[in-house]
Amino acid sequence: MSVRMLAMVPYLDSRPAFWTSVPRFIAFLALFLACGAVRPAQAVWLDRHEAIMGTNIDVEIWHDDAAKGNAAIDAVMGEMRRIDNLMSHYKPESQLSQINARAFREPVVVDQELFDLIGQAIHFSEITEGAFDITYASVGYLYDYRKHVKPTEDQIKAALPAVNFRNLLLDPKNHSVRYEHEGMRIDLGGIAKGYAVDQCIGILQKLGVQHAVVTAGGDTRIIGDRFGRPWIVGIRHPDDKEKVIMRLPLVDTAMSTSGDYERFFDEGGVRYHHIIDPKTGHSASKVRSATVLGPTAMQTDGLSKTAFVLGAEEAIKIIERLPDFDAIFVRPDGKVFYTKGLAPPDTGAGSSP
Ligand code: ADP
Ligand code: MG
Repeated sequence: MSVRMLAMVPYLDSRPAFWTSVPRFIAFLALFLACGAVRPAQAVWLDRHEAIMGTNIDVEIWHDDAAKGNAAIDAVMGEMRRIDNLMSHYKPESQLSQINARAFREPVVVDQELFDLIGQAIHFSEITEGAFDITYASVGYLYDYRKHVKPTEDQIKAALPAVNFRNLLLDPKNHSVRYEHEGMRIDLGGIAKGYAVDQCIGILQKLGVQHAVVTAGGDTRIIGDRFGRPWIVGIRHPDDKEKVIMRLPLVDTAMSTSGDYERFFDEGGVRYHHIIDPKTGHSASKVRSATVLGPTAMQTDGLSKTAFVLGAEEAIKIIERLPDFDAIFVRPDGKVFYTKGLAPPDTGAGSSP
């Protein structure tokens, strides 16, 4: 996980006291409990952590009924599993794996939901000058970070022509997907977690939850505040997970952090990590970490890879063209860059000294 919840504030109930007289309260409580199996509902914070989509899922909600709150968290975990079954490239039976297996030979019809998310992914390729490109997987599959496996230059050269989102053809009439180049693969690892987080927040909102945080890997979305105050989220130092480079007070927002410290191995002084430059097929290293803030986690997820490929300055230009988005980037030299929206008043987009 790339972000860490920090400094949770103790609960201070500021609601006006309803029961002004203690005897009256005790009499009511006795009557209430005597009425049978019903117990007074008590608002509680509930949290749960599970491993789904190959990552950590963290859910924290405020609910005035613990049983209903736990059922809401069950629904969130169920939704994460549903999306994983549809979109995982690790599961041969998933619709995404079906595309990778057949789309060069024939159009592959998929659920509207998956079709639409692929369409969104192409949109992020267009606005990031191709830095975000789900066809990166045509070369990305040659890496195995856990086993310290990387492709040779010849393997990269052979696979690279298949990396190009323009060769990913979508037919909206039949919601089918076709590859125009042999050897193409797609992988939604850079956008599906953000999408899943949004879906889960939608479920919680439908169930009446007003204060919650849902995180999948580096992608987080927050609704409401925490005890009347913003959630305080820390961005970690790329080399030390105990150190925080910036704390952000957040309410009703999404935030995605990508880092070269998440899935990687070091060899010969080079860090091989999971964000790939679609033009070179190598790990993209223009920043060490990138955090994007915006309205939805699908959007912030889709944008958090850009600075790795294009560099902090170029990525800031792209983010600042989008209303309601901000970003913080840590460069390899340790300098921190951020957009105007995060700068103190009367200053522009900034950087650390
Ligand atoms: P997390 O999965 O922890 O949220 P990120 O949001 O940083 O991490 O996404 C990293 C993932 O994005 C990689 O594991 C890979 O699946 C995918 N990816 C890597 N490079 C690219 C790229 N250039 N364009 C789109 N997706 C990418
Ligand atoms: Mg992500």
